[in-house]
Amino acid sequence: MTQPPKHCCEAMNDRVNVRCDRHDDPFDCPDALVGFTATFQEYGLIIHDGGRSSITIAFCPWCGRRLPESQRDRWFDELERRGIDPAEDEVPAEFQDDRWLASRRGK
Ligand SMILES: [Zn+2]
Ligand SMILES: [Zn+2]
Repeated sequence: MTQPPKHCCEAMNDRVNVRCDRHDDPFDCPDALVGFTATFQEYGLIIHDGGRSSITIAFCPWCGRRLPESQRDRWFDELERRGIDPAEDEVPAEFQDDRWLASRRGK
């Protein structure tokens, strides 16, 4: 089991982990402000326009700390190295959350 991610401060932790009993999807929930995409290690402000867009943020709105660097480019690089085109091929399970980052550590 992967541990729930620890964020920069309690406020961020609470916000990212908002669980609402009326909305399963944070994009549907007006209480959800910040989304965390484990795959890319990206934080985003959720835009409640009925779609699924969010604005990536580089600093925590509460404690002001710099957030981890986005791993999006590395994700694409890593898949390319394996000859996988995410637009066409099936993305391996470990690349669908943050496990691919763990497997890279210690190399
Ligand atoms: Zn809700
Ligand atoms: Zn913070």
